[in-house]
Amino acid sequence: MRKTGGLPLSRRLARRVEELKPSGIRRFFDLVVGRDDVISLGVGEPDFPVPWRIREEMIYSLEKGYTSYTSNLGLPELREGIAEYYTRFGVKALPEQVMVTSGVSEGVDIAIRALIEPGDAALIPEPCYVSYKPLVEICGGEAVTIPTAPEFRLTYEMLMQYRDAKAKILVLNYPANPTGVSYSKKELEEIADAVNELDLIVLSDEIYAELTYTGRHVSMAALNGMEDRVVIFNGFSKAFAMTGMRVGYVIAPPDIFAGMLKIHQYCMLCAPITGQIGAIEALRSLDEVERMRAEYMRRRNFVVKRLSEIFEIKKPEGAFYAFPKISSTGMSSEEFAEKLLLEKSVAVVPGNAFGECGEGYVRLAYAVKFEKLKEAMDRIKEFVEEHGEG
Ligand code: PLP
Repeated sequence: MRKTGGLPLSRRLARRVEELKPSGIRRFFDLVVGRDDVISLGVGEPDFPVPWRIREEMIYSLEKGYTSYTSNLGLPELREGIAEYYTRFGVKALPEQVMVTSGVSEGVDIAIRALIEPGDAALIPEPCYVSYKPLVEICGGEAVTIPTAPEFRLTYEMLMQYRDAKAKILVLNYPANPTGVSYSKKELEEIADAVNELDLIVLSDEIYAELTYTGRHVSMAALNGMEDRVVIFNGFSKAFAMTGMRVGYVIAPPDIFAGMLKIHQYCMLCAPITGQIGAIEALRSLDEVERMRAEYMRRRNFVVKRLSEIFEIKKPEGAFYAFPKISSTGMSSEEFAEKLLLEKSVAVVPGNAFGECGEGYVRLAYAVKFEKLKEAMDRIKEFVEEHGEG
């Protein structure tokens, strides 16, 4: 038997996989499993049930026995619905450009796999959602991170500093997880100038597009001349509270779309049919989204008010996360999160889980009921008072 590193060759994981670090979010999630006393502001999971009319459609579909695969690309009615829906964010797409995926997660994965090979670089502004960097690295690509602290806004100037990276793609997410930052059309146009000068493809993760508090989201693909450079990702997990249904979608230029489809048809085959049927109804239920958005906004205002009495914090413009700076306590992000959990049973995620420049911050998801949020804010205040200013 051939042996390497003490293990038979057949039992060795691929090096790229061995080198991956476990997600910092998952670690904290695991710490609170089974603990009813904990108020978890850790995971980005809406606390609303899937709106009833969407559930009803899914239940009927199961009663009727609709449990098969769909076409690789998704149900035609859903693809048409998505193309129509995206005009809301300024994009005129054809249903043929829409591919339904198993969540945004699959979409981002297959886009990166379609574009990145060993030797290619991807620009990733940090702090950012935890998946992007590992997905680039699994493909043997180089993840070139762009620190954006303390404003957490990507600018033309920042991007242009990376001209020597010879990157192929820029991964952009706004409204952003974990910072809640979003961009105006003017800011996007400036970023787009750099994207054109550096000849990049933008992977635009717009999963929080519905959850904005300062005006309607503008898609990067809606800007003049950008439709051919932008791959849009969106889905039903966050705005429609449908995380477990695993439905997302991609709107992409034809060549990239074709590459992604090649991978999708061999790995996921299609998104779950029950979720797709629910998603068709979801697109007719924007009033439900508005109801949830209004409640998130109420919570955002409350959380920002309470946290700003203790910490420096930027008002989130979208999504359902607050990202206060906790370094004034003298604790590191991890120390803060661990002690807060131990002493006050409140779970938050250390900012460095989203990239090095998130050190000194923590992320709180305000996707919990108002009463719990109030209690969590009281406990955080007590915690900081007990530890004194650093
Ligand atoms: N993109 C971002 C920015 C997210 O925050 C998340 C989930 O937290 C996802 C993608 C995953 O979305 P999905 O459930 O559609 O796979």
